[in-house]
Amino acid sequence: MDVRERRALDRGVCVITGGGRGIGAATARQAASAGWRICLSWLSDREAAESVAEEIGGVAVQADVADGDGVRALFSAAEEMGPLTAVVANAGIVATQARLDEMDAERMRRILEVNVLGVMLTAREAVLRMSTRHGGSGGSIVTVSSAASRLGSPGEYVDYAASKGAVDSFTVGLAREVAAEGVRVNAVRPGVIETDIHASGGEPGRPARLAPSIPVGRAGRPDEVAAAIIWLLGDESPFTTGAILDVTGGS
Ligand code: NAP
Repeated sequence: MDVRERRALDRGVCVITGGGRGIGAATARQAASAGWRICLSWLSDREAAESVAEEIGGVAVQADVADGDGVRALFSAAEEMGPLTAVVANAGIVATQARLDEMDAERMRRILEVNVLGVMLTAREAVLRMSTRHGGSGGSIVTVSSAASRLGSPGEYVDYAASKGAVDSFTVGLAREVAAEGVRVNAVRPGVIETDIHASGGEPGRPARLAPSIPVGRAGRPDEVAAAIIWLLGDESPFTTGAILDVTGGS
């Protein structure tokens, strides 16, 4: 399907934070195929983000999700493209694997700022534009949590796990807060997925190491998480809100 055919489906505009790589990039591709116009954000890898945007006929904007002004600028760029109907709060980070007693405050602060504050700032801009309370026509928000929120990631990154626990609570609370305003809010909770995030934690081979412990016997792929996100984003799940969907291969 080419860009013109996709646009004919016209599901409005979809903002995806961290849409240049990994799960975000897979989601951008599938959302574009499903008929959304994509406005994606990136922080450091311009080339990856611009390549995805070009491929799907979307727009890539540099914006740190932990920065309120940056997130506002991202949504302003999206507004130029048409009515906002879908938002994926996907951007997230880990730091080098460590025990809590080896972590410093600066590391913990950055994890919480990107993974928690970033999701809240993104969702706030989404609600301000999609909620009927603010003159919007409704829409759908999907947050990207992690199975770490219930497994705790001991010895690797308990700070990250705690940040994802906050994402779960936030998702349930916001879903109930805006349910009567036409906005659905759900989370996907991926297990071990083959992306660059493991290299950024210092162990690129982590998916292969953990594969035998995953009930289906392998790590997941970004497109398998994206498929769950797309289902939650669209009209196929009109009565689903406040849900947390595990995409973990059984972990
Ligand atoms: P990834 O391949 O490392 O990609 C992360 C993306 O987030 C990149 O596009 C990056 O932008 C962007 N990003 C990072 N910090 C940002 C910031 N401050 N502002 C804006 N964008 C930022 O990671 P991934 O595995 O796809 O992870 C996506 C989400 O899935 C994260 O929330 C992660 O916690 C969650 N998750 C992943 C796994 C897994 O096993 N992969 C499991 C559970 C949950 P640049 O490209 O510019 O660097």
